[in-house]
Amino acid sequence: MATEADLRHLHRCVELAAEALEKGDEPFGSVLVSADGAALAEDHNRVAGGDHTRHPEFELARWAAANMTPEERAAATVYTSGEHCPMCAAAHGWVGLGRIVYAASSAQLVSWLAELGVPAAPVRALPIQEVAPGVVVEGPVPELEERVHDLHRRFHTAR
Ligand SMILES: [Zn+2]
Repeated sequence: MATEADLRHLHRCVELAAEALEKGDEPFGSVLVSADGAALAEDHNRVAGGDHTRHPEFELARWAAANMTPEERAAATVYTSGEHCPMCAAAHGWVGLGRIVYAASSAQLVSWLAELGVPAAPVRALPIQEVAPGVVVEGPVPELEERVHDLHRRFHTAR
């Protein structure tokens, strides 16, 4: 169950995803939160320039490796509008970050994109725990699913 604090951070992720959409990028946003609840870093998707590895969860994993001790990373939480892809789940696992809370699952995203007629991605959408089995994962969060769905609908119908 998502707590009040979880929902607050997830709302910020959805805002970041909306910012990405306004800039013509895919609507994904993520926030890295310390054990004491402070938002340390945030980012949104930046793939519009052509580098499709510029996912926010990947950026946050690198930021955590550069700026946090292993203990701080293990106690931190990454909130994200959409479940980590396998690349980002691997980065999260390799740098030893803690819990993940996502608003919408990869399975939901795959079915939404199929409904919109978007061609399949080049990387399979696996659940985070198939890639990084030690990570505690929570989601999807029903309060936010429809907002995330709407952002993706807008991104793919605006082109
Ligand atoms: Zn990713």
